Amino acid sequence: MADIRVGIGYDCHRFAEGRRLVLGGVEVPHDKGLAGHSDADVVTHAAIDALLGAAGLGDIGTHFPDDSEQWQGADSLELASEVKETLEKHGWSIVNVDVTLILESPRISEYRELMSMGIAKALGLEIEQASVKATTNEGMGFIGRGEGAGAIATALLERQ
Ligand SMILES: [Zn+2]
Repeated sequence: MADIRVGIGYDCHRFAEGRRLVLGGVEVPHDKGLAGHSDADVVTHAAIDALLGAAGLGDIGTHFPDDSEQWQGADSLELASEVKETLEKHGWSIVNVDVTLILESPRISEYRELMSMGIAKALGLEIEQASVKATTNEGMGFIGRGEGAGAIATALLERQ
Protein backbone atom coordinates (compact mmCIF):
# COMPACT_ATOMS: atom_id res chain seq x y z
CA MET A 1 0.00 0.00 0.00
CA ALA A 2 1.51 3.28 -1.13
CA ASP A 3 1.84 6.02 1.47
CA ILE A 4 -0.31 8.71 -0.12
CA ARG A 5 -2.21 11.70 1.23
CA VAL A 6 -4.91 13.88 -0.26
CA GLY A 7 -5.64 17.51 0.60
CA ILE A 8 -8.23 20.14 -0.22
CA GLY A 9 -7.90 23.90 -0.48
CA TYR A 10 -10.33 26.78 -0.90
CA ASP A 11 -9.69 30.48 -1.35
CA CYS A 12 -11.56 33.56 -2.48
CA HIS A 13 -10.69 37.20 -3.01
CA ARG A 14 -12.73 40.31 -3.64
CA PHE A 15 -12.39 42.28 -6.89
CA ALA A 16 -10.99 45.80 -6.46
CA GLU A 17 -10.15 48.71 -8.73
CA GLY A 18 -6.52 49.45 -9.44
CA ARG A 19 -5.29 45.89 -8.87
CA ARG A 20 -3.69 43.48 -11.33
CA LEU A 21 -5.63 40.27 -11.96
CA VAL A 22 -3.15 37.45 -11.38
CA LEU A 23 -4.49 33.91 -11.77
CA GLY A 24 -2.20 30.89 -11.63
CA GLY A 25 0.75 33.26 -12.06
CA VAL A 26 -0.71 34.72 -15.27
CA GLU A 27 -1.61 38.40 -15.46
CA VAL A 28 -5.03 38.42 -17.13
CA PRO A 29 -6.17 41.70 -18.74
CA HIS A 30 -9.23 43.03 -16.89
CA ASP A 31 -10.56 46.34 -15.56
CA LYS A 32 -10.25 45.07 -11.95
CA GLY A 33 -7.98 42.77 -10.03
CA LEU A 34 -8.27 40.74 -6.86
CA ALA A 35 -7.54 42.45 -3.55
CA GLY A 36 -5.15 40.91 -1.07
CA HIS A 37 -1.90 41.24 0.80
CA SER A 38 0.08 39.29 -1.80
CA ASP A 39 -0.75 39.25 -5.52
CA ALA A 40 -4.10 37.69 -4.43
CA ASP A 41 -3.60 34.79 -6.86
CA VAL A 42 -6.64 32.80 -5.81
CA VAL A 43 -5.74 29.80 -8.02
CA THR A 44 -2.27 29.37 -6.57
CA HIS A 45 -3.49 30.01 -3.01
CA ALA A 46 -6.05 27.20 -3.26
CA ALA A 47 -3.37 24.86 -4.66
CA ILE A 48 -0.99 25.77 -1.81
CA ASP A 49 -3.66 25.06 0.82
CA ALA A 50 -4.41 21.68 -0.77
CA LEU A 51 -0.70 20.79 -0.74
CA LEU A 52 -0.17 21.89 2.86
CA GLY A 53 -3.39 20.19 3.91
CA ALA A 54 -2.34 16.89 2.36
CA ALA A 55 0.89 16.99 4.35
CA GLY A 56 -0.87 18.08 7.55
CA LEU A 57 1.31 21.18 7.64
CA GLY A 58 -1.28 23.86 8.32
CA ASP A 59 -2.33 26.41 5.75
CA ILE A 60 -1.07 29.34 3.71
CA GLY A 61 -1.69 31.77 6.57
CA THR A 62 0.55 29.75 8.90
CA HIS A 63 3.45 29.78 6.47
CA PHE A 64 3.01 33.24 4.90
CA PRO A 65 1.17 35.46 7.43
CA ASP A 66 -0.72 38.30 5.76
CA ASP A 67 0.37 40.76 8.46
CA SER A 68 4.02 40.23 7.53
CA GLU A 69 5.68 42.81 5.29
CA GLN A 70 7.77 40.01 3.85
CA TRP A 71 4.80 38.75 1.81
CA GLN A 72 3.38 42.11 0.75
CA GLY A 73 2.79 41.92 -3.01
CA ALA A 74 4.40 38.48 -3.03
CA ASP A 75 4.46 36.41 -6.22
CA SER A 76 2.32 33.46 -5.17
CA LEU A 77 4.12 31.08 -7.53
CA GLU A 78 7.26 31.76 -5.47
CA LEU A 79 5.30 30.84 -2.36
CA ALA A 80 4.23 27.64 -4.11
CA SER A 81 7.88 26.81 -4.82
CA GLU A 82 8.69 27.33 -1.15
CA VAL A 83 5.83 25.02 -0.21
CA LYS A 84 7.19 22.36 -2.56
CA GLU A 85 10.56 22.59 -0.76
CA THR A 86 8.85 22.36 2.62
CA LEU A 87 6.99 19.23 1.49
CA GLU A 88 10.22 17.67 0.27
CA LYS A 89 11.89 18.38 3.62
CA HIS A 90 9.03 16.46 5.22
CA GLY A 91 9.54 13.55 2.83
CA TRP A 92 6.65 14.20 0.44
CA SER A 93 6.58 14.46 -3.34
CA ILE A 94 3.63 15.85 -5.25
CA VAL A 95 1.63 13.46 -7.43
CA ASN A 96 -0.73 16.09 -8.81
CA VAL A 97 -2.79 19.19 -8.07
CA ASP A 98 -6.15 20.01 -9.62
CA VAL A 99 -7.71 23.46 -9.31
CA THR A 100 -11.13 24.77 -10.29
CA LEU A 101 -11.30 28.54 -10.60
CA ILE A 102 -14.76 30.03 -10.17
CA LEU A 103 -15.40 33.49 -11.58
CA GLU A 104 -18.01 35.18 -13.71
CA SER A 105 -15.68 37.30 -15.83
CA PRO A 106 -13.34 37.68 -17.59
CA ARG A 107 -13.36 34.46 -19.60
CA ILE A 108 -10.06 32.79 -18.93
CA SER A 109 -10.14 29.83 -21.34
CA GLU A 110 -7.22 31.20 -23.38
CA TYR A 111 -5.09 31.53 -20.22
CA ARG A 112 -5.92 28.15 -18.70
CA GLU A 113 -2.97 26.29 -20.16
CA LEU A 114 -0.54 29.08 -19.22
CA MET A 115 -1.78 28.82 -15.63
CA SER A 116 -1.17 25.07 -15.62
CA MET A 117 2.31 25.63 -17.02
CA GLY A 118 3.15 28.25 -14.39
CA ILE A 119 1.96 26.14 -11.49
CA ALA A 120 3.66 23.05 -12.90
CA LYS A 121 6.95 24.91 -13.19
CA ALA A 122 6.70 26.32 -9.67
CA LEU A 123 6.03 22.86 -8.26
CA GLY A 124 8.51 20.96 -10.44
CA LEU A 125 5.73 19.01 -12.16
CA GLU A 126 4.70 18.14 -15.69
CA ILE A 127 1.81 20.19 -17.04
CA GLU A 128 -0.60 17.22 -16.82
CA GLN A 129 0.09 17.08 -13.08
CA ALA A 130 -1.02 20.68 -12.56
CA SER A 131 -4.55 20.97 -13.85
CA VAL A 132 -6.43 24.27 -13.88
CA LYS A 133 -10.07 24.41 -14.91
CA ALA A 134 -12.56 27.27 -14.76
CA THR A 135 -16.28 27.65 -14.37
CA THR A 136 -18.77 30.40 -13.60
CA ASN A 137 -21.27 30.51 -10.76
CA GLU A 138 -24.18 30.88 -13.24
CA GLY A 139 -24.85 34.41 -11.97
CA MET A 140 -25.52 33.28 -8.41
CA GLY A 141 -24.06 34.61 -5.18
CA PHE A 142 -21.06 36.91 -4.67
CA ILE A 143 -19.11 35.31 -7.49
CA GLY A 144 -22.12 35.49 -9.79
CA ARG A 145 -22.48 39.21 -9.05
CA GLY A 146 -18.84 39.71 -9.98
CA GLU A 147 -17.81 40.74 -6.47
CA GLY A 148 -14.93 38.29 -6.34
CA ALA A 149 -13.43 35.02 -7.49
CA GLY A 150 -12.97 31.71 -5.74
CA ALA A 151 -10.94 28.59 -6.28
CA ILE A 152 -11.05 25.06 -4.93
CA ALA A 153 -8.18 22.60 -5.24
CA THR A 154 -7.15 19.08 -4.42
CA ALA A 155 -3.63 17.73 -4.17
CA LEU A 156 -2.17 14.25 -3.85
CA LEU A 157 1.18 13.56 -2.20
CA GLU A 158 3.22 10.37 -1.95
CA ARG A 159 5.99 9.48 0.46
CA GLN A 160 9.40 9.93 -1.24
ZN1 LIG B 1 -5.67 34.01 -1.19
